[in-house]
Amino acid sequence: MTDPDLWQKWSAARVRAAHQAPYLAAALLSLHPVMVTGTRGELRRFPADTGWRVYVEVEELARQSVREVAFWLVHQVTHLLREHARRYPGGVVELLPEEQQAWNLATDAEINDDLTADISDLTSDIPPETAAPTRPGLPPDTTTPARHDLPPDVTTPALLGLPDGWTAEQYWQALREAAHRHEQPEHDHPPHPPTAPGDCGSGCDGLPRAWNRDDLPPALSPTAARLTALDTARRIRERLNAQDDVPAGWRRWAGQVLEPTVSWRRHLSARVRHGLAQAAGRADYTYRRPSRRAAALPGVVLPSLHRPLPSVTVLIDTSGSITETMLAQALAEVTGVLRAMGIARRLLTVITCDARAYRPQTLTRISDLRLDGGGGTDLRAGFAAALSTRPPPDLIIAITDGRTPWPHRPPRTRVIVALLDPAGQAPEWAQTVHVEGAS
Ligand SMILES: [Zn+2]
Repeated sequence: MTDPDLWQKWSAARVRAAHQAPYLAAALLSLHPVMVTGTRGELRRFPADTGWRVYVEVEELARQSVREVAFWLVHQVTHLLREHARRYPGGVVELLPEEQQAWNLATDAEINDDLTADISDLTSDIPPETAAPTRPGLPPDTTTPARHDLPPDVTTPALLGLPDGWTAEQYWQALREAAHRHEQPEHDHPPHPPTAPGDCGSGCDGLPRAWNRDDLPPALSPTAARLTALDTARRIRERLNAQDDVPAGWRRWAGQVLEPTVSWRRHLSARVRHGLAQAAGRADYTYRRPSRRAAALPGVVLPSLHRPLPSVTVLIDTSGSITETMLAQALAEVTGVLRAMGIARRLLTVITCDARAYRPQTLTRISDLRLDGGGGTDLRAGFAAALSTRPPPDLIIAITDGRTPWPHRPPRTRVIVALLDPAGQAPEWAQTVHVEGAS
């Protein structure tokens, strides 16, 4: 793009977008514009791709108001921050084109729900000169629509006949069900969902588009995008702490990003359960002695466990770099799973370890745990201590930032590593779970 007026319009739109949603300012600045010509119409939503490149059709930029462009920038950066491409249901099974469009509608409904809140809450506070800065040579933004107007071509939950506040997955499911009812003429059905009036690009579903410029380096790598999301979530948290208003969808999102308790917890639980099941698998399930549950099911002989339950040692890295909150959370999770599996306290040993291993503890309560340590890290000492018991434990769960030397050879005992630092290392022979939000 050579026209300086258009560059100014682009900058003005970005400034205005950052005023509309100040917590998105850093994310908006990360968007890299790629100027495109000759695809007018298709690109009227300024679509983005998963590399945070935003495709700016020059004629569209000239035609639309600063307010409209600002709206679309906030909209597209929201697709990226909320990882709609990763959440695309077609990642698991291939979808029909109309289902792909339904995902675009569903994600738009999730986004615009909050954007309309933003616009009605915030635009009234913006002085016009800040909202749309003009410079000599740039004509005033006369095309600005009325204050509470959204650009045309915007999907809201109301337009889909669905309530506010749902996730994209919920809207998508409802749209699919509505489409299915529509195929059955005997049913009275709500109006057929409108077809997607525009395309939000790969940023919405991760699928390639003709205009994508994958030859250009991405504006943000996946890691940088993750950091931008964390930063954005922290800004939202700060605003909430300062009693500033943030739309509900963004509040929820920030909570999920900063405390992703569900994902890693489930994952860790699954790993621990699996590890225990495999350890217990070495015990015989036998029909020789009837299970006590058999009494409740007359005529059915249930297998009973012939050998004792597996024993577990939790190895905790207590070197200086670890945050206690996260340690406590990871440990609470581990012990919760063990309790649910019926592992008696006497079968659970905790060993804290920095550069050396401390005395093994058998816990009654988590709060009784002594977090000895605080020095350098060498978990090999912890492994040696754990494996020195007779018999050795059936399962070792190591909670660590991974900044430690590991035993060169895999121990004979199964090992699960709960890794608190994404940059930390776990050995190949261990099952690893990344505990997010630890650092
Ligand atoms: Zn969209």
